[in-house]
Amino acid sequence: MQIQDVVIIGTGPAGLTAAIYSARANLKPLVVEGMQAGGQLTITSDVENYPGFPEGVMGPELMVNFRKQAERFGASFLTGEVTKVDFSKTPHKVYIGDKMIEAKTVIISTGASANLIGLPNEWRLMGKGVSTCATCDGFFFRGHEIAVVGGGDSAMEEANFLTRFAKKVTLIHRRDKFRASKIMVDRAYKNPKIEVLLDTVVEDVLGEKDVTGIKIKKLKTGEAKELKVTGIFVSIGHSPNTKLFKGLLDMDQNGYLITKDGPKTNIPGVYAAGDVQDHVYRQAITAAGSGCMAAIDAERYLENLHA
Ligand code: NAP
Repeated sequence: MQIQDVVIIGTGPAGLTAAIYSARANLKPLVVEGMQAGGQLTITSDVENYPGFPEGVMGPELMVNFRKQAERFGASFLTGEVTKVDFSKTPHKVYIGDKMIEAKTVIISTGASANLIGLPNEWRLMGKGVSTCATCDGFFFRGHEIAVVGGGDSAMEEANFLTRFAKKVTLIHRRDKFRASKIMVDRAYKNPKIEVLLDTVVEDVLGEKDVTGIKIKKLKTGEAKELKVTGIFVSIGHSPNTKLFKGLLDMDQNGYLITKDGPKTNIPGVYAAGDVQDHVYRQAITAAGSGCMAAIDAERYLENLHA
């Protein structure tokens, strides 16, 4: 395979916007599409805050359209998991198993993934009552009693959202104080369908085929009991997908890639865009914006290279 001008890793809003911009600049980007093509928006339903859609748009539909737009201008797609990268000299190398791709510039937009508590049965019962996405799975719990774990804004938002479907939502947080903003916490306390349990941890998820309950423990008293729920929504933050870049690119203490002057990493010609470098805003529109910036910077870098 010839040396690519631009290789983009990841196909969320950041990666696909980078693909649209670099394709329109005639750079024929090669986009590597991993397991969750389209990124986190593909597990969301209504997106109501993406500008240009006054009635809202479904997340998966939005991402299909991003992709079509990139293809229309000449982006090509390769499906596979990137297993290794080598940025030690140019051209940079991106490996998908045995296959090696050489690139003059690389745009990293591998996003972030939902954190889990780490209980063995949490994995086993994932999709069978355990979920990390209220907007995707809330509908399945119409009339049920469920739990939400977490103390941040996401947990508040998910707990409130889930009361549209569930009969009762127990909101479980490990400390005696929520991390979430006051307005979100107040909203949760005011919601008659939400019961708040503070200083409480989930020790196990119960059920053979599907979730039938969870084992919880009050930290201050040590009292343990079973809570009968059919669903547990784990909403304890996200981690950036940056394992591949450990030791190669500058990261903060939580593993988010550090960018400066827009999307530039510490390696010339390597850019990062979207949630992989943003733990603050984490919006589709901000991810798309940073993908655009990465593509423009890659284009300028290539221009200088060829000048
Ligand atoms: P977050 O703010 O990092 O909160 C994560 C929560 O999960 C914390 O309360 C944390 O507890 C808890 N937690 C972490 N690990 C845990 C574990 N192993 N077991 C039990 N609990 C655990 O994450 P987030 O809520 O996803 O929010 C991320 C960012 O997006 C924030 O900046 C947030 O403001 C923003 N956001 C904004 C909105 C909005 O404004 N509409 C909505 C969603 C998210 P501790 O508090 O004890 O650390």
